[in-house]
Amino acid sequence: MNPNEDKRPELRDLSPAQVQELVVALGQKPYRARQVLQWLYQHGAESFEEMTTLSKVFRERLARAARLENMAPSLVEASADGTRKLLFKLQDGLAVESVLIPEEDHSTLCVSSQVGCRMGCAFCRTATLGFKRNLRPAEIMGQVLAARRLAEPDKPLTNLVFMGMGEPLDNLPAVNLALRHILGSHGLAMSQRRVTVSTAGVVAGLPALAAASPAALAVSLNAPSDELRSRLMPVNRRWNLAALKKALMAYPLKPTRRITFEYVLLGGVNDQPAQAVALARWLQGLRAKVNLIPFNPHPGAAFERSAPQRVEAFQGELIKRHVTAMVRKSRGVDISAACGQLAGKKAGTAQVTLE
Ligand code: SF4
Repeated sequence: MNPNEDKRPELRDLSPAQVQELVVALGQKPYRARQVLQWLYQHGAESFEEMTTLSKVFRERLARAARLENMAPSLVEASADGTRKLLFKLQDGLAVESVLIPEEDHSTLCVSSQVGCRMGCAFCRTATLGFKRNLRPAEIMGQVLAARRLAEPDKPLTNLVFMGMGEPLDNLPAVNLALRHILGSHGLAMSQRRVTVSTAGVVAGLPALAAASPAALAVSLNAPSDELRSRLMPVNRRWNLAALKKALMAYPLKPTRRITFEYVLLGGVNDQPAQAVALARWLQGLRAKVNLIPFNPHPGAAFERSAPQRVEAFQGELIKRHVTAMVRKSRGVDISAACGQLAGKKAGTAQVTLE
């Protein structure tokens, strides 16, 4: 059957309550839903046959009423530093990428939320694809479950960042349901401190994200003035720095939590000491930390990487003003797996920075 004509819901597109409704509609007791969810998320079952605590008759009924789309990467590219870029072909032929980054004792996945992106950031390779479509929750979970299987046993997947292709707040219903599956006790039960949603500054989505999810928040900032930010990030023309700051001041952060600000350093564009001073001033009043990310040029990029002494000087200005600022090592640069490099095809990619 053409997958586009298959009207059966993908189980990972359903909330726990919807799975329960389905189970009850199939004549089962509600507690069977919990078993189905355990098979999906804790055991990572890829077929109904694997769900052996369910009766054969129920499994057959379930398979007639619902489907499982299993996502396995069609291509895995490995970097010299151990980072792996995973390419997933979707059922409609489009493709997305995730980046699996091994750390000392755990792994982090940079996950995509859309095919392409409509934010149009000037330094980002994904932006050159334009926007194709939103991912469904099952397609976000498919990346996560595949990465969990691929992570090395001594480096289990514990950390997740929504910093791959797409703007998560431009696809909030799907991202919020995926976050429920990722953080919830019915799902992967990952720590909310280890799951980060990164936005380019889609202010309208922030209240709904905060209401739905306790995940950590990151903001891709990249410029301390509206003039420059609007040039680098068109989203700033819709929500300028004042609107962004107002929304972030109101964002309900737990007492020990901070917002991470990503700042990609573009040589000669946004890496001047005076811009660091302006950034520190803009951050006043926010519980913030700053990740400085020297730009990773990609083919056709109009920007250059900041010189190491510029990066150091920029960081120094921030630290002098009591702003926590760290320079992030780019991982997977040799396979175009670093921030802003993801392009959803073998030659493409986006860069990732991590704690
Ligand atoms: S940096 Fe992020 S928000 Fe901006 S175009 Fe690229 S994927 Fe979209």
